[in-house]
Amino acid sequence: MKNTASKIVILGAAESGVGAALLAHKIGWDVIVSDAGKIKEVYKKALQEQGIAFEENGHTESKILAAECVIKSPGIPNKAAIVQKIHAAGIELISEIEFGYRNKGESKIIAITGSNGKSTTTKMIYHTMQLAGLDVSMVGNIGNSFAKQIAEKPTEWYVIEVSSFQLDDIISFRPNVALILNISPDHLDRYEYKIENYIKAKFKITQNQEANDIFITNKDDTSISNYLANNIIKARTIYFTMSEQTNQNSEGAFIENEQLNINYDGERTTMSIHDLSVQGKHNQFNSMAAGISARTAGIRSAKIRESFTSFEGIAHRLEFVASVRGVDFINDSKATNVNSVWFALESMKKPTVLILGGQDKGNDYNEIKELVIEKVKAIVCLGVNNQNIHEFFESIVPTIIDTQNAKDAVLAAYSLAEKNDVVLLAPACASFDVFENYEDRGDQFKAAVRNL
Ligand code: ADP
Repeated sequence: MKNTASKIVILGAAESGVGAALLAHKIGWDVIVSDAGKIKEVYKKALQEQGIAFEENGHTESKILAAECVIKSPGIPNKAAIVQKIHAAGIELISEIEFGYRNKGESKIIAITGSNGKSTTTKMIYHTMQLAGLDVSMVGNIGNSFAKQIAEKPTEWYVIEVSSFQLDDIISFRPNVALILNISPDHLDRYEYKIENYIKAKFKITQNQEANDIFITNKDDTSISNYLANNIIKARTIYFTMSEQTNQNSEGAFIENEQLNINYDGERTTMSIHDLSVQGKHNQFNSMAAGISARTAGIRSAKIRESFTSFEGIAHRLEFVASVRGVDFINDSKATNVNSVWFALESMKKPTVLILGGQDKGNDYNEIKELVIEKVKAIVCLGVNNQNIHEFFESIVPTIIDTQNAKDAVLAAYSLAEKNDVVLLAPACASFDVFENYEDRGDQFKAAVRNL
């Protein structure tokens, strides 16, 4: 509890900002929430119920610059004028997970970052810990914000999905167990179009770790290996890999003869990859990462196997929708970068009509070129500006059609597909040009499929 009501300003009033406000208010800060845009009704109500002051549609600079500390929501870029002014005034600026960290007490943290697979792996770890009877919550980009969970229902363990934007503004955040699943280009618009900056932001998850903490990461990822070759990580580092099968007795996870193996603390956990409830190579990576994490929390092999056979995937991630006259429809609306589309195509077993497009983040489609040649018979663009897709794929894919809404995209794809084909929505782009968000895009896609 703070004795004096020091001023804290929270920039941005969505999930993380409102969560931070609730926690700050509870522990005695004098809180003002300030949003440059309109605040959603649910969040306004949450603030009003606690009597927390807020402003919307603009920032009152004098109020903000009078703060002792500012918590910035991850959606606000560092180049925003107000953020620059806060820095110039020498006011401490932190992210919501940093604020949560400072107020979590003795609880332990497993934090997951990476370009793809964060939500899936976070949920897998959470599911396993819950099955094992631990007092645990799942927070961050999935579910409640970390700060809100601390304010409303603290737990002994927090499994946190962390984005690079949240990591940009940490100072002392130190997870007991940190994971970097993989690194591929994404959100480069926020990192001066330099992949090095993005990699550095991801590795901030390890910056405060000590020798008695654990860092779990992907041995097969070249961005990660290159970084590790040139930088020292203090935490005990444990790898998962699909390319090496020789580390039979060393600590870590690997796959051999279609068996997933985890070696940790003298115990070997094994299971067939066919028994994993979520399929695809990417989920084998996620399962290895989640399995090691569960072992570090003291969970035994039998529980991990039970968890991995009962885990239900998350909607919009390679989600099977329906089969219509022999054509399968799959919703992977969350595939918002090229790398996730690579994994989606990799797991397709039938000729594919690919629905691609949306708000381009500077995509380089070379990564999926070979798989497209091998598996894709037609592309249906779903977006306002499809020029990049046409330019890249026109010489490779015989049919490319433009559409601007989910219904037309589904109708076009269905007319191009034959019996025993699959229609895959895996856009490689953000959804904001046509849809509210990726969930809205996936939901509209599913509705259109059901209407066929
Ligand atoms: P994130 O939270 O990092 O966006 P999700 O679990 O929501 O990750 O999955 C996002 C997209 O990436 C989905 O299309 C999913 O099928 C795909 N994906 C999941 N795990 C991985 C992985 N380990 N590597 C590459 N793609 C993945």
